[in-house]
Amino acid sequence: MRAIVYHGPYDLRSADVPDPTIESSRDVIVATVATSMCGSDLYLYQGEMPDLAIPGTTILGHEIVGEVVAVGTDVERFSPGDRVTFPFSVSCGTCAMCSLGLTGHCLTTGKAIYGFRGLAGSHGEFVRVPYADGHLRHVPTGIDDAAAVLLSCNLPSALIVVDAADVHRGDTVAVVGAGPTGLLALQLLTGRLDRPPLVLDRVPYRLDRAAALGGTPVNVDTDSVRDVIDEATGGLGLDVVVEFAGRPEAFDLATSILRPGGVFSGGGVYRVATAHPTSLALLFANDLQIRLNGLANVLPAIDRAARLITDGIVDPSAVFSHRIDLESLPSGAAAFAGRDDGFHKMLVTVA
Ligand SMILES: [Zn+2]
Ligand SMILES: [Zn+2]
Repeated sequence: MRAIVYHGPYDLRSADVPDPTIESSRDVIVATVATSMCGSDLYLYQGEMPDLAIPGTTILGHEIVGEVVAVGTDVERFSPGDRVTFPFSVSCGTCAMCSLGLTGHCLTTGKAIYGFRGLAGSHGEFVRVPYADGHLRHVPTGIDDAAAVLLSCNLPSALIVVDAADVHRGDTVAVVGAGPTGLLALQLLTGRLDRPPLVLDRVPYRLDRAAALGGTPVNVDTDSVRDVIDEATGGLGLDVVVEFAGRPEAFDLATSILRPGGVFSGGGVYRVATAHPTSLALLFANDLQIRLNGLANVLPAIDRAARLITDGIVDPSAVFSHRIDLESLPSGAAAFAGRDDGFHKMLVTVA
């Protein structure tokens, strides 16, 4: 099959690789119809998590809509022809963590993620789905390919983080990070709040898109963030910050603009082995509520995320800016990583 193989930082190459096969009776093989690239894939692409991407081997990609083409003998829920998606994490459905709904922490698979290490991801014509009955999902009717791709990671992650933030209508809220997941969270928040959320980022075109979706843009490089927050809250600080940047500086910024007792709900992905000095005194003295959801338990949230689309609460097209084919993925990845002007998210059509 054709696939895009990681060869080192900023180096993806199209290649012919062996087709995946049924290796276990619980496997399913899915033909990829469309995929994409997530902000967290950039850590691997840019060489920031070198232990998780093997040059010459790793096929990235944890977002997918596809069609089942083969099933193992013990698979009960799927048949060839089924239209499916999967959550980014591989979960068995039966271990102690899966039983608690903590599917991102599956004990059987060791928190396996598609496109990480040796488990091939969705940037190829076919992908092997282990423990398929445990986590593969049928795509509900009324969900187009682009929207279905969002069900693997971005949209349920946004939903989980916004739910964990527990906002109330009168709250003053900021979204830190206006990438695709941040923009989806923004769409959720506008319906739950009386006043527009502030959106903090440093990329002008991303802030423009946030403004078009009902947010109040704040450029962290050119605006005085402190003054903006003081004006919005009478000097009190924010009730809630939802964060999707996954950088230590963003954590510090977010926790510095909360009022005492404020809620930090994080969806950003922090790199393995990130050590960062932070002020426990600040967190303590302000009774901050720190709720991390970056290794999101997406599976239990997929059905609710799908309803957000079919009910018209979230517009998937608002986060897609580019449509390309599989062979163009290496250049698309470079544009995504480089934040080329106007580049939010790509839909990569494969079949
Ligand atoms: Zn993702
Ligand atoms: Zn499990």
